[in-house]
Amino acid sequence: MTQTTNPSDQKDSRPLEVEVLVVGLGPAGSTALRTLVDGGVSALGVDRAEFPREKPCGGGVSARTLPYLPPKLLDELPYQTTQGIRLTLRGTREQCQDFGRPIAYQVRRDQFDLALLDRARASGARIMTGVRSIQLSRKGNRFEAKMGEKTVLARAVMAADGATSKVLRDLDPSSMTETRDNPLLRPWTSAEGWASLRDPIDTRYVAIDLGLVAGGYAWSFPKKDSLSGLGVAGFLKPLVDPRSVFARYLESSQANLDGGGVFTWPLPNFRSARHGRVPGLFLVGDAGGIVDPFLGEGIYYAVLSGTKAAESYIRSRISPEAGPDLPERSTHDYVNWLNKEIWPDFRQGSRLAKTIYRFPGFFFSLTGRYPKLLELYASILTGDRDYRSFSREIIVRAVKTLLPIRRPAAGRFL
Ligand SMILES: Cc1cc2nc3c(=O)[nH]c(=O)nc-3n(C[C@H](O)[C@H](O)[C@H](O)COP(=O)(O)OP(=O)(O)OC[C@H]3O[C@@H](n4cnc5c(N)ncnc54)[C@H](O)[C@@H]3O)c2cc1C
Repeated sequence: MTQTTNPSDQKDSRPLEVEVLVVGLGPAGSTALRTLVDGGVSALGVDRAEFPREKPCGGGVSARTLPYLPPKLLDELPYQTTQGIRLTLRGTREQCQDFGRPIAYQVRRDQFDLALLDRARASGARIMTGVRSIQLSRKGNRFEAKMGEKTVLARAVMAADGATSKVLRDLDPSSMTETRDNPLLRPWTSAEGWASLRDPIDTRYVAIDLGLVAGGYAWSFPKKDSLSGLGVAGFLKPLVDPRSVFARYLESSQANLDGGGVFTWPLPNFRSARHGRVPGLFLVGDAGGIVDPFLGEGIYYAVLSGTKAAESYIRSRISPEAGPDLPERSTHDYVNWLNKEIWPDFRQGSRLAKTIYRFPGFFFSLTGRYPKLLELYASILTGDRDYRSFSREIIVRAVKTLLPIRRPAAGRFL
């Protein structure tokens, strides 16, 4: 159990001055906080929840996340290694592939997030949890955060407070209005719960079903105990009634829901991301819309963006040109990284989602015919491929399938 510092315990009513305030201590916030403190920056991390806390999530940590996690973090947790995919089409016609190497580690988010937060604390970070209310505004060249009786002043703010970011609503309200008014920017929807499977799948496989969820997919991720995390998400448009889609998936996979119930939760749509509009405001993880539009994977991107945002700040701070424009320069550096490394691949992932989730039967038969495609799919999770190279391969295979090239019989001239 983590030790927490509650703001109400802070009797001193003078404003607390820090260089960077990190709001939200999920994977994005804890990682940013730890990286900042390790880089010599005075930073404070706050979260409205007391830890450990639950977060609706399948808890699949892709293998490519490992290099960005603190050393040996997973060794502290119960986790299940998965190294294969079991793909079904509308609950039937199964294809299984074992890749012989880990593609994802299945964790429980309450345990994983607590371990990450504890590593930030061990680095010497100041942390406040159970902060019920936080109100952010700009005061001159500083940000002011009112948290009950306590006021915090900071040069920069990292918004890591998840898909419905309050920090973003406070500091850049127009981004919320834009999202509300434009259906294309709205978050995707999901439903998930813990369940026991009547016919348990091999715990080395993640189970993915295509076709059962219109415009998305259903998953079952095994955990170390007897339960699996089951869920459904739509990526082309928000599911109208995610609970009933989830109920259908439970039925088709012959699963019994655990007592914990069903959660529905938004998955950020990367198109709604509005970075760099407020100098000194970094949007990381879900708060920045940094969720893979094909798989809905967000833990990797939360940890990655938390690391990169903190590194941008540290780099700009030690640069010989560092001056009063540090907040602006550092956010600019971070936005450049997003533009170069993240958005081009997300755009391709989104195109892929449109094709595969619209024509799940075609993709399923393609993977049956070319089993290597599933391995390529897995190589996104291991970080060996990105969506651009994966898509190129699918196009080549699809063209070969649709236009079979007939070779002339041996010895004959055309
Ligand atoms: C159903 C579902 C299944 C998913 N499955 C997977 C999966 O298997 N693998 C994967 O990689 N990704 C998955 N994701 C995505 C993943 O859960 C998120 O992308 C990831 O949690 C983002 O991390 P984060 O740190 O940005 O935000 P979060 O994990 O949401 O953390 C935000 C933190 O901010 C705090 N907070 C919120 N509001 C405030 C406030 N006003 N003041 C202070 N603190 C606040 C919260 O208490 C929380 O601790 C799934 C998502 C959903 C919805």
